[in-house]
Amino acid sequence: MPKIAFVNGSYQTINKPSIKIEDRGFQFADGVYEVIALTNGVLIDLNFHLDRLNRSLREINIEWPTAKEAFNAICAEVIRRNRLVHGSLYIQITRGVSARDFSYPKGLKPSLIIYGRHSQENQNLKKIECIKVITTQDIRWDRCDIKSISLLASVLSKAKAKNKLAQEAWFLNKDGFITEGASSNAWIVREPNIIQTHPTNSSILSGITRLRIIRLAEEQAIKVIEKPFSLSEAKKAKEAFLTSSTSFVQPIIDIDGTQISNGKIGLTTKKLLNSYLKFMG
Ligand code: PMP
Repeated sequence: MPKIAFVNGSYQTINKPSIKIEDRGFQFADGVYEVIALTNGVLIDLNFHLDRLNRSLREINIEWPTAKEAFNAICAEVIRRNRLVHGSLYIQITRGVSARDFSYPKGLKPSLIIYGRHSQENQNLKKIECIKVITTQDIRWDRCDIKSISLLASVLSKAKAKNKLAQEAWFLNKDGFITEGASSNAWIVREPNIIQTHPTNSSILSGITRLRIIRLAEEQAIKVIEKPFSLSEAKKAKEAFLTSSTSFVQPIIDIDGTQISNGKIGLTTKKLLNSYLKFMG
């Protein structure tokens, strides 16, 4: 399979070094990103992702690097050149290139990178994997609503999870509430057909899958409570799951060593997963 990325105006093979050393994304993590799932050649919830990208850019005062039509055309061209059918598209926009200085000059040209990742198969046919999570202190900044490329806290937390043979780390804030996962939103099932997740504010990323699951839940009369839950509530939950663009709806069967849902996917999680897979097509 070809591996071709759009990098600041041209299409290049991804292993060719083409990022400037003084790109502010490289030196200061001064930029934002999106990951969009692709099924049967279609980008899932593209408009929601573009709205979020727009918001992230606005919050940190970076201009769009291209007009909307050109942007859509580049996404389509990356999909075409890579013959992407199932997988994901990664989009990164940084403030641009300038001599290394914390303060930035006005009028920088933002850098734009778009490339794709293949997945082996149609995601809908993927085997359901039930996972374990650990909890760890939320050491991130106060603007987790911005999809910043500064991901060090998540990188370190994922490593901690991996060391404990878990697949995700859930962040615990100072009050003992779970905010979200290192790369996903966190959910519990309080009772069959009653689900709970942290409300959207600056403590979490407003996940696109989270948003879609809220809509799909409401269509099936599953009640959604947007309220923080504590670690002890999570451990006592009937079921738990996470959502993200690349994991969809993933059942959780162990939190810090406490078994959840008898170690298997629960009925409410299954309902939501099935409706999400159906929505993706
Ligand atoms: N929270 C964090 C911290 C994330 O990194 C992600 C995935 N990038 C999510 C939530 C899930 O967001 P989405 O559903 O848009 O992939």
